[in-house]
Amino acid sequence: MQPRDLSDHSPYVPGRGVEEVARDRGLDPDDLIKLSSNENPHGPSPAAVEAIHEHADRVHQYPKSSHTDLTAKLAAKWDVPTEQVWVSPGADGSIDYLSRAALEPGDAVLAPTPGFAYYGMSARYHHGEVSEYALSPDDDFAQDAETVLTAYGGERIVYLTSPHNPSGSVMPLDEVRAIADATAEETLVVVDEAYGEFTEVDSAVPLTAERDDVAVLRTFSKAYGLAGLRVGYCVVPEAWGEAYARVNTPFAASELGCRAALAALDDEEHVAESVETARWAREYIADELDAPTVESAGNFVLAEVGDAERVAEEAQERGVIIRDCTSFGLPSHVRISTGTREGTCEAVDRLNETLSDLELGARP
Ligand SMILES: *Cc1c(COP(=O)(O)O)cnc(C)c1O
Repeated sequence: MQPRDLSDHSPYVPGRGVEEVARDRGLDPDDLIKLSSNENPHGPSPAAVEAIHEHADRVHQYPKSSHTDLTAKLAAKWDVPTEQVWVSPGADGSIDYLSRAALEPGDAVLAPTPGFAYYGMSARYHHGEVSEYALSPDDDFAQDAETVLTAYGGERIVYLTSPHNPSGSVMPLDEVRAIADATAEETLVVVDEAYGEFTEVDSAVPLTAERDDVAVLRTFSKAYGLAGLRVGYCVVPEAWGEAYARVNTPFAASELGCRAALAALDDEEHVAESVETARWAREYIADELDAPTVESAGNFVLAEVGDAERVAEEAQERGVIIRDCTSFGLPSHVRISTGTREGTCEAVDRLNETLSDLELGARP
């Protein structure tokens, strides 16, 4: 007996982990600088760690009040009704909830290419189709309404990523409005703000109060440093609030995840420091790396290095783990997450050595 035909479903390719690479290469994990998954190099907020300890002996209970409290706190933060906040296991969980709530079999989503793989994966799991709009290295992956609307063909969901992964480009709010205005009444425009904290561009969350066709994704995985706990959320239009109870996986956002997220929201200093370091590091990488880079509003920088697979491989030999963007359809680009100040400087040194050695080696 076999599972259903999954040949249309491409497997998700995650960035490689420290232990994995250290084991493969016989290196000490402490010598490795991991800049491949856009994680927070400062770690989680100490307040979040404390909350995890504090609630550890209560994990025999299902998460109930922690989930309610987190939803309420997020609603207050964004000044929206609690019904419009869908807490989920990571923002990825919210993408699934939106697929479940929106897609009839055969309905399509429109997603960016290159782009975050999970939009299309989730649509396919839910028997949906995927069409794409292209962002181009030729104009630094510039995002505007025209690019999206030219490719638009009445899809049920249109995904916008701002800041965009893997390029770091942003979609200004006026362009989001223009897209929502021009698309059909039955099209939901989803703005993925997984890296929203790092940018100076305004959040699209207030649009969810103004209109009924925009939703916004947010996560605790990036600026808040809680990727391992899997907590994210979606702010949905008013009329969608009620669907949550019908589509969410019961108790999927865990007790410790919700508790840690609650504590992390109160630790404004940790987020501010994380954002400040990322802004400094993305400038440093752009200035000091010996390769062309794309201006980034996120906690990562996309660089054009020639043979990305080879460069990522050789960088790993030197103890720096970066993301080869071949799986994004960018075989000449690598994505470098921002590290601590020290880690970023060290990584750029080692990457420049890598690039220089490869160039010398390539000469006849
Ligand atoms: C990291 C990321 C997410 C969400 O990650 P979760 O860990 O599931 O919250 C969503 N969208 C983009 C573009 C991302 O890079």
